[in-house]
Amino acid sequence: MKLPLAVLCRGADCEAAVMFVHSRKTGRNIMLDATPDPTGRVVLIEDGTKLFAISLTDEQLATDERERYADHHQTCPNAGDFRGGRRR
Ligand SMILES: [Zn+2]
Repeated sequence: MKLPLAVLCRGADCEAAVMFVHSRKTGRNIMLDATPDPTGRVVLIEDGTKLFAISLTDEQLATDERERYADHHQTCPNAGDFRGGRRR
């Protein structure tokens, strides 16, 4: 699986490496921590040549053994700045 290029978060107080992946559910880009996080709820799947992110339910979390990623909105000190996804 080829991961998207990691970029630095644009948050003013945040220098985390993040990556943007299309949400399987909404089709919109979501920002994930670029480093896998076992406490995250998101796994990446490949569909053809495309990579998608899916959020696992509690039930799935208990049994799924794929590498997990955290939604960066949950870990970013500047998460409030991104609400609505309008800021670029
Ligand atoms: Zn951030």
